[in-house]
Amino acid sequence: MSGNESRVQAISQIVNRKLMPPKPPKRLEDMWATDVFSLSKMQESLPKSIFKSVKNTIQTGEKLDDSVADVVAVAMKDWAISKGALYYAHVFYPLTNSTAEKHDGFISVQSDGSVISEFAGKVLVQGEPDGSSFPNGGIRSTAAARGYTAWDVTSPAYVMETDNGMTLCIPTVFISWTGEALDKKTPLLRSIAAMNKAATRVLKLLGNNKVAPVNSSCGAEQEYFLVDANFANNRPDLLLAGRTLFGKPPAKGQQFDDHYFGAIPERVQVFMQEVEERMYRLGIPAKTRHNEVAPGQFEIAPFFEAANVASDHQQLTMTILRNTAKKHGFICLLHEKPFAGINGSGKHVNWSVGNATQGNLLDPGDTPHSNVQFLVFCGAVIRGVHKYGPLLRAVVATASNDHRLGANEAPPAIISVYLGSQLEDVFEQIRQGGVKDSQGKGIMNLGVDTLPTFVKDAGDRNRTSPFAFTGNRFEFRAVGSGQSVSGPLVAMNTILADSLDWIANKLEGDLAKGTELNAAIQNVLKEVMDEHGAVVFGGNGYSEEWHKMAVEERGLANLRTTADALPVLKEAYIEDLFKKTGVLTPVELESRFDVYAEQYLLAIEVEAKLVISIAKTIIYPAALRYLSDLSSTIAGLKEVGIELEKETAEKVATLVKSMMDNASKLSDALSNHDFASTEEHMQYASQTIRPLMDEVRKYADALEAEVADDLWPLPTYQEMLFVK
Ligand code: ADP
Ligand code: MG
Repeated sequence: MSGNESRVQAISQIVNRKLMPPKPPKRLEDMWATDVFSLSKMQESLPKSIFKSVKNTIQTGEKLDDSVADVVAVAMKDWAISKGALYYAHVFYPLTNSTAEKHDGFISVQSDGSVISEFAGKVLVQGEPDGSSFPNGGIRSTAAARGYTAWDVTSPAYVMETDNGMTLCIPTVFISWTGEALDKKTPLLRSIAAMNKAATRVLKLLGNNKVAPVNSSCGAEQEYFLVDANFANNRPDLLLAGRTLFGKPPAKGQQFDDHYFGAIPERVQVFMQEVEERMYRLGIPAKTRHNEVAPGQFEIAPFFEAANVASDHQQLTMTILRNTAKKHGFICLLHEKPFAGINGSGKHVNWSVGNATQGNLLDPGDTPHSNVQFLVFCGAVIRGVHKYGPLLRAVVATASNDHRLGANEAPPAIISVYLGSQLEDVFEQIRQGGVKDSQGKGIMNLGVDTLPTFVKDAGDRNRTSPFAFTGNRFEFRAVGSGQSVSGPLVAMNTILADSLDWIANKLEGDLAKGTELNAAIQNVLKEVMDEHGAVVFGGNGYSEEWHKMAVEERGLANLRTTADALPVLKEAYIEDLFKKTGVLTPVELESRFDVYAEQYLLAIEVEAKLVISIAKTIIYPAALRYLSDLSSTIAGLKEVGIELEKETAEKVATLVKSMMDNASKLSDALSNHDFASTEEHMQYASQTIRPLMDEVRKYADALEAEVADDLWPLPTYQEMLFVK
């Protein structure tokens, strides 16, 4: 097809498309967790003693007894078969942001040639995927260090419906035979354990006798774009890079913001309903859905859950969004910046810590005791975000997220903490030596008097902060829409563990000297503010003044790109942090740097090659056709004595030449492989390759504004964003 034929065809297909009829509404109770082998289903199907043992394992994380595993495996298999499953899969989370699974049949052939369904405890507990295709950063360089998967009892098994039918899915960790974590789940579990240990220490010091295990919670808001597959199939950049590498902004963009919370188009509504039904069946508590700022952009957020389960569920959510979109003739873009000049997509990770005895530890509560507890945990977060801000930047560093962070819409690349004016005031007073009572009775006595009730005022949400306190949790907004939430959760739990340990040491020291508890708390919180208060910022995070002040006066890092941020993982203080908390060994940490750096370089290389090929083989021919039309028309008219202006033809010719010149430059730049280090290579990708890609695009987009529409081959922004 030449010219805009494919575009016209795409539009006619969309316009004539029959809507998938919405499924008749079902009662939530009838759908909820029907595809999950939940605790209650285990209770129904397991002998009492076995169930008790499994439940204990789930709560304590201890290893499951072999004989117990056998009984559980049989019950799980029978349940899965009753749901129509013939296969089972160990599901794991490699260092890419994807979900990986290895499928095996329950089938077992007997000596007489007959078959039975079989699933032994040892197969449930441990699997051995062919891990060679997953990145490992050099850990598994020897053949002896192959990987295995091990059942994570704390995240329930489920059956998943795919094109191939139902499969029993078992969430697992993925570890090398030498014991190193090759995945994203293992460090997450370790970070929760480290945080639990440190939090328990602090809670005991604060006078709590009974302290239940402390867990972290996560509720992740997922933004995404939907584009009709008829368009996407004509955009190699969307298909291969997940974003448009070319495209002139539409006449109507998001200037009017009328899409936000606007009516959800019917076709999208039907899609969303199916997504939600699939989520409910898998026990994922989808809660809010709405339009986002940009046209074609939407959001789905679940009710929060324990971090480990939430993280597995988040991966499932991304899979469900992608698969369901296909069924409805869309493609779901989870890229952070699919369309230049249009709002990008993020994943706000809401995070807190708490337990069954003290509740949510980042909730101020309403007694003096809970207030103090809250201030201590909040202080620990402040210290952690200040001390390890560059780490928080590094865990959200990807080639695609670089288009968001630091740009003028998403949170800035400078990591600061927003507390809200009232809480900021409380901490400021702590810095100055004492908290004044809100009723004006003079200095407030920590542990005796209560904090003022914090009013959550809607105007005060401060969307410009990357790390914001939102009443009873923190919201980390710099996370990319396509990213696994595990890395960010690991970082938050680990820095909190470190800070809580530091606080516990300080308190113990003071108490040993005979200082009274509330005075000791006051001391340590004052020290937090003296040393780390610079990270607290309530103003406009997008402003020039802040960028200057943050770096020059407050000494905060402004790591603009992944090339700047990833090397943080190699710094000694980060290695120390992960080592002393037991979350990652130095070898595991180094492997993560290697893998993420490689992914960054690969992503940019793929995009650069696409830029060159699309410019040369799609845009250049279209522009030449237009030039040929123009020149023959101009010449023909001249013969009959009519002089037509030549400016357009000249302009198009100049743009074509500039585009092709820059494509050649980019091509030359790509052939450079001479780098002293990975860091140098990343800087080259960010400082040389990326700007050249932008140059090619600049001329191509200018051509889009000149070339006759009936010759333009790529679906336009206008079409992709507005035709549903
Ligand atoms: P907004 O878009 O206003 O930021 P949403 O209501 O869309 O807020 O999302 C808020 C998210 O925060 C939800 O997933 C919610 O369950 C989650 N959340 C609420 N309380 C906690 C908590 N204690 N820990 C973790 N997440 C929480
Ligand atoms: Mg939010």
